[in-house]
Amino acid sequence: MSLGQPGKLGKSKWGFAARIVALSLALFLLVQAAVFGIVRATIERTARQQIAAELQVDERVWRRLLDQNAQKLAQAARLLAGDFGFRTAVSSGDLQTIRSVLDNHGARIGATVTALIDSQLALQAAGEGQDSQALAALVGQIAVPMSRQSAGSQIALLNQVPYQFVQVPVRAPVLIGWVLMGFPIGQALLDDMRALSGVHVAIYNPANAGPAAVLASTLPAAAFDAPQSKAVSGFGPELGPELGLALKFDGDTLVGRHVKLEVVGGRLDGGKGGLQTLLLRSFTDVVAPFRQAQSALAWITALGVVLFGLGSVFLARRITTPLRDLVRASEKLGRGDYQTAMQHTQRRDEIGDLAVAFDAMRVNISAQQAEIRQLAYWDRLTGLPNRARFRDAVQQAIADQAATTPPTLAVVVLDLDRFKLINDVLGYAFGDRVLEAVAKRLAVFATQPGDLVARLGGNSFAVLLAHGDLPQALHVAAQIAQSFEAPLAFGDQTIDVTAAIGVAGWPAHAPDADTLLSRSEVAMYSAKSRTTGIQLYDSALDSSSSQTLSLLSELRHALEHHELRLFLQPKIGLPHSNPNAAEALVRWQHPTRGLVPPLEFIPFAEQTGFVRLLTLWVFNEAASLWHGLQTPEQAVQVAINLSTRDLLDVDFPAKLDLILQRHQVPASGMCLEITESAIMDDPLRALATLNKLHERGFKLSIDDFGTGYSSLAYLKRLPVNQLKIDKSFVMAMERVPGDAMIVRSTIDLAHNLGLTVVAEGVENAAIYNALKQLGCDEGQGYFISKPMPAERFVAWRRKWNDKLDANRRDYGQSVPMPLSGN
Ligand code: C2E
Ligand code: CA
Ligand code: CA
Repeated sequence: MSLGQPGKLGKSKWGFAARIVALSLALFLLVQAAVFGIVRATIERTARQQIAAELQVDERVWRRLLDQNAQKLAQAARLLAGDFGFRTAVSSGDLQTIRSVLDNHGARIGATVTALIDSQLALQAAGEGQDSQALAALVGQIAVPMSRQSAGSQIALLNQVPYQFVQVPVRAPVLIGWVLMGFPIGQALLDDMRALSGVHVAIYNPANAGPAAVLASTLPAAAFDAPQSKAVSGFGPELGPELGLALKFDGDTLVGRHVKLEVVGGRLDGGKGGLQTLLLRSFTDVVAPFRQAQSALAWITALGVVLFGLGSVFLARRITTPLRDLVRASEKLGRGDYQTAMQHTQRRDEIGDLAVAFDAMRVNISAQQAEIRQLAYWDRLTGLPNRARFRDAVQQAIADQAATTPPTLAVVVLDLDRFKLINDVLGYAFGDRVLEAVAKRLAVFATQPGDLVARLGGNSFAVLLAHGDLPQALHVAAQIAQSFEAPLAFGDQTIDVTAAIGVAGWPAHAPDADTLLSRSEVAMYSAKSRTTGIQLYDSALDSSSSQTLSLLSELRHALEHHELRLFLQPKIGLPHSNPNAAEALVRWQHPTRGLVPPLEFIPFAEQTGFVRLLTLWVFNEAASLWHGLQTPEQAVQVAINLSTRDLLDVDFPAKLDLILQRHQVPASGMCLEITESAIMDDPLRALATLNKLHERGFKLSIDDFGTGYSSLAYLKRLPVNQLKIDKSFVMAMERVPGDAMIVRSTIDLAHNLGLTVVAEGVENAAIYNALKQLGCDEGQGYFISKPMPAERFVAWRRKWNDKLDANRRDYGQSVPMPLSGN
């Protein structure tokens, strides 16, 4: 995870906690649901079993009740049958008396039906007000079967009313008839039954359809309007075959058990199953206590959800809160804040361990960071801040300046000249001492708060003037240059160190720190190549500026419209002062600007690649002049300057071939001057090109030797013939002993390696003579001649030869060249 994105975790702030809570609640609810389901199923099953058991008991009670009733009835009937007066009346056939006794007796015991049946089992007499016709029919059905028992009991319908009948014999002493007594099985009995066992009772006759089948019931008639089918009741086989009916009534479910009532002599109704009792118990009543337990369970579940929820939220927060703290802390670490100690290190769980580990990491990183910062921001050799630190400081200064009016700061960059040579010739330890001494010299230029002196790397240094404007910066640059005028002394060694200095200011030259730094370096490089010493940044120096493009098109124009001129500067063979070579140097005859020196356009041409056309133009121009320069006595080799771009062009040697062919010039008549830096840009490709050029017979010369970074030993591996000591050494050699020593050792080393040496920058006779003494092969410089238009070369040489002849006449062959200039 990128620590730079704190929002990411913030978004899913509740993610982890919510998931813990949701998961634990879901699991809890799942368990509860399972418990609920099991409880519910158990309740149903238990309730059904309980109802079935209760209904079985109910049936027994019901039968016992009916039985008791029958016995009571039979007793009363027996009493009547044993009554003497009654028997006498039966014997005598006194129907009047019989009826009155039957009425009296029946009324006394509450029998609704009392009748006398004769020995032939036909109705003889019935009590008052009884339907004797219906009774006679009933007697015809039930008397015979009942007569087979001593005191038979029988349930039968009389005018659609169920009755319990008993029949007892009347003997005097022989059987003279039967007394029949019947009670209606009516509401009173059913209410008794309900009071006794709490069960609902209904008597019904399946022969009748619909609610009419119900003859009597403890339930209101409406209950039987829509008795549910077996399927609807949902009672399984465990209830037994007897449980067949369920009634939904008044929001209650009633489960019923059929009880068949025995009817003597078969069925009463000619077929349909006989009179039945239905015992009904309320399912709701049975499950009510369970339902209570169930609702208690529901409450417990609800409470459990709340408690579980709270508990898991608490637990989750115990985890996620410190996690979030740790995330915040690591974001802080990411931002580079190592000061804040980690929280939660006191906890004695895994989170605590994590926090402790994190904190240890913080401390370690912080220590390493400090070390890295030390390494990253300071230069070990000089103790100065390095480039990275300098860049930060410039950035900081720009940020601080933004508020002030007018905002201004400046950077002075300097690069020591010829430092590589100092390292090579005088040794690295000496070079280090030079750098330390330079650092010490520069330190005094940081005078204001915020100013900073840094070593940018190698031999380049920079000074930040945190509040300086451009005039101040140029003043400081001049002071720095002045301070370099005094040679550095190390014991008996003194050395002259010079530097190229570039100056750039913010906001005048650059909008930000990086651009400011690079522009001050652009200025410095420009100072270096023009040997101007100090250079203020100008957008014209910068290839990235828009001026480059217009300058490029101007250059093209110059080439096409013949504004370029070829100048030649002679090189003199020192032993005999013989002008045997010349360097071709380009000039631009600008229509408005006049004669433009090459350093004002060559760098652009190099940056844009245009220099390749320029080189070919110069080479062609030189080749076309070549034959005109030669005389039988004095051959003149013409030197051409090549640039990096030429060396990287694989077709470059072939292009030169064409030109040489065109003008019939031998390759050995030309010398090619190449700077080290041109070779070092891409050494392998450059070497390939150099080899090709060498094979063709061109003389190859290393130009500006001493200002680059390559060692002599390396250069010797190249197919070169000549070293050209840079003019900065040569011009200073009579003033600065160190430079004289460098020139001397370069000449010796080059000769040891089989190379010839040219010294450029020969500005006076003393240098000329000194170089001759040192065995330098050739000299080039203003003392001999400034570069001149090519067409003037031949005339100049004639004059030179004449002076030389005159000198020799006056002083003899051995006299060196005390020329009085030209
Ligand atoms: P360079 O190749 O080092 O050329 C020698 C420079 O030193 C010339 O400057 C010359 O005028 C100058 N010089 C010669 N003798 C003395 C002296 O005694 N004292 C001083 N102070 N200077 C002396 P110039 O002609 O201005 O050329 C400058 C640079 O421009 C050349 O440096 C070379 O790098 C570049 N350049 C000139 N012409 C061409 C060219 O045709 N092609 C390429 N690629 N570069 C060129
Ligand atoms: Ca040159
Ligand atoms: Ca040179």
